[in-house]
Amino acid sequence: MQEGLRTEVQRIAALALFLVLFGWANGYPLTTLLVGGTAYMLFTLHRINRLYAWLASDSDDLPPEASGVWGDISDYLYRLKKRIEQAKRNYAALALRIRQITSALDDGLVLLNADLSLDWWNPTATELLNLRDTDKGEAITNLIRNPLFVHFIQADTYAQPLELNSPYDPARILQFSAGKFGRGEVVLTIRDITRLRNLEEMRKEFVANISHELRTPLTVLTGYIETLQGDLDRLPPHWQRALKQMEQQAGRLNVLTEDLVMLSRLESTSPSPDRTPVDLCSLLNAIVDGARVLCGETHTIDVKCEPGLNIPGESRELHSAFSNLIFNAIKHNPEGCNIDISAKKTEKGIRVRVADDGIGIDPKHLPRLTERFYRVDDSRATASGGTGLGLAIVKHVLNRHNATLKIRSTLGKGSIFSCLFKIPGNPGKRGK
Ligand code: ADP
Repeated sequence: MQEGLRTEVQRIAALALFLVLFGWANGYPLTTLLVGGTAYMLFTLHRINRLYAWLASDSDDLPPEASGVWGDISDYLYRLKKRIEQAKRNYAALALRIRQITSALDDGLVLLNADLSLDWWNPTATELLNLRDTDKGEAITNLIRNPLFVHFIQADTYAQPLELNSPYDPARILQFSAGKFGRGEVVLTIRDITRLRNLEEMRKEFVANISHELRTPLTVLTGYIETLQGDLDRLPPHWQRALKQMEQQAGRLNVLTEDLVMLSRLESTSPSPDRTPVDLCSLLNAIVDGARVLCGETHTIDVKCEPGLNIPGESRELHSAFSNLIFNAIKHNPEGCNIDISAKKTEKGIRVRVADDGIGIDPKHLPRLTERFYRVDDSRATASGGTGLGLAIVKHVLNRHNATLKIRSTLGKGSIFSCLFKIPGNPGKRGK
């Protein structure tokens, strides 16, 4: 038994004994016991009342003086009250810190309740979305009515961020990202990406302009080189070597310029809405015929194409994408390699695969392979005449044709480049 409780029990026992003895002495033992017990109960109630008043008060005073079990209870409650006050202070300091951090953020932050009504937002969100204090509790879809945004926020996935012109300043481009937390609440972040997009636009324009500007001087240079080659026999040997090199480098520059022009066009124009069906087998066979002529049968190329396959799209772009994959398999792999090209309809769509049993690519390069100018080995790619733009073109063309590129490769064993064209209206693979 606890010390305080024991003292209290002893005190009650002593009081009861005293009352019985006193009552017995004056001839009214029971009445004395009853009166004394009632007085003790009233005294206890008075102590409870004082303790309760102290607990309810916000003051820092010590608890009312008490002994025995009431002293223990008062001490315990005092320590508990102190601990709660400290926790409250810590919580308030943390809340202030979080408010300061979120106020310093360049990104807008909005917390939405599970019913997508506004709960809280930081100052940047106020500025970006023109929010007012009275908007608290308002549905976000009443403030941003753009159907794309409504669809984005009402979908549960939030896998991809959404880019939109600001509803209050169309010159501003905002990027919205969202995520769920707690009991279905949503945290929405808003980033002003106007500068980033403007810079990207400038870069695209710069590359498009420079590659167009390069075409004319290149045509003149190539023309002179061809003219001079007509008189090759009359030139001294060191000039002949120089001319050969000039021809090679002008050729490389030509390929680079053409790739840059193609890439700029893919980036800066939207795909044409009226697409004509492109006969896949004729396209692949035409590319392979050209490749066979160029590589002079150094590689074994096999084509398996399911007849009648059509892809709605731009024949020129698809030609460029498949040529890049097929010519890559030739130029990046040694003589004697086998290249298998196949096209077939699957549950997920039309799959075109270019597989080779050549040198393969180290897996560490795969995530960056479709970046412009990315080359696995600079010296090897330069020797093979690569620009590092081929797979970037492939990726862009596939994007414009609702298709995806998957690359699998094993060093020393070969690579597989697989393009999957989703067919409009095709529900894809169904769960069993
Ligand atoms: P490039 O103009 O150099 O071919 P790409 O973007 O087409 O540029 O390819 C990027 C790099 O990927 C190439 O430099 C090459 O190292 C590697 N690569 C592409 N295809 C193959 C392949 N079939 N086998 C081995 N390496 C490949």
